[in-house]
Amino acid sequence: MNLSMKIIKNITEMQNWSRHYRCENPDQKIGFIPTMGFLHEGHLSLIKQAVESCQCIVVSIFVNPFQFNNPDDLKNYPRNLERDILLLNGLDQKIDILFIPDSDDVYKNGRPELIMDYPDITNKLCGKTRAGHFNGVLTIVHNLFMWIKPHVAIFGLKDYQQYLLIKKMTNDLHLDVEIKAGQLIRENDGLAMSSRNSRLSSEEKNRALIISQTLFKVKNEFESGNNKVLHLKNILQNNLSHLEIDYASLYHSETLEELNEQDNASGALVAVAVYIGKVRLIDNILLN
Ligand code: AMP
Repeated sequence: MNLSMKIIKNITEMQNWSRHYRCENPDQKIGFIPTMGFLHEGHLSLIKQAVESCQCIVVSIFVNPFQFNNPDDLKNYPRNLERDILLLNGLDQKIDILFIPDSDDVYKNGRPELIMDYPDITNKLCGKTRAGHFNGVLTIVHNLFMWIKPHVAIFGLKDYQQYLLIKKMTNDLHLDVEIKAGQLIRENDGLAMSSRNSRLSSEEKNRALIISQTLFKVKNEFESGNNKVLHLKNILQNNLSHLEIDYASLYHSETLEELNEQDNASGALVAVAVYIGKVRLIDNILLN
């Protein structure tokens, strides 16, 4: 039980807490897991991972309006703060702080004016159809790092592009936060866990299974020696052809450039975004 978990809603209070903690506990590490709430096992696995190297755990919940390019998506994003708090309070691992900043406090002028960007990467994959999404993500994560001052922050590989961008920002700005990757957690049937899955009907959930099944098929094919990009891309796109595809291809795992069809797929990121009904789902797998 985590009944000692403190909830902080104010940015100045968060900063004061962090300054004090760092001063009083110079040998201890603060581990940070940023989320948009509606927590599931994917989020909890990041918390478990943080506990392995950090003595103090900070989780944030903030549905960041500026990473949603679609007002309907923002409006329909699942939220249940009461349930999230109960869930965190019931964990075996100790959580020190749940930080729930208020949008008015985060964006004093109603919107961010200083915006982070990596134009070569933010416009690829998810950024292609979600204009401004990663600018919103980078900006809020940068700011959360400034307020919380964690030693370690953990991001799930479910959002591979996000992880890559944050790692790059942290390195380039010398932010002194160690970025760790958490493995992608799936339901027993293979579906990548996501807060958005709660918006799927059971028929849609069944339909969504083809996404992970296709990724596993591509990986199996690669592992059995058929490693040409063209061949694997064909499997990927043919298996998903009955769905509304946003993107589905093989990419360089650092630059996110789409791989040449004649290349060997070794080390590639196979990444997919598709719509099931109104819900946009993403998934990926690394070929290594
Ligand atoms: P979100 O609440 O969707 O913004 O996600 C918060 C963090 O949890 C991000 O680092 C995500 O990559 C991570 N996450 C979400 N779903 C999963 C999953 N199925 N497996 C691992 N990490 C996840």
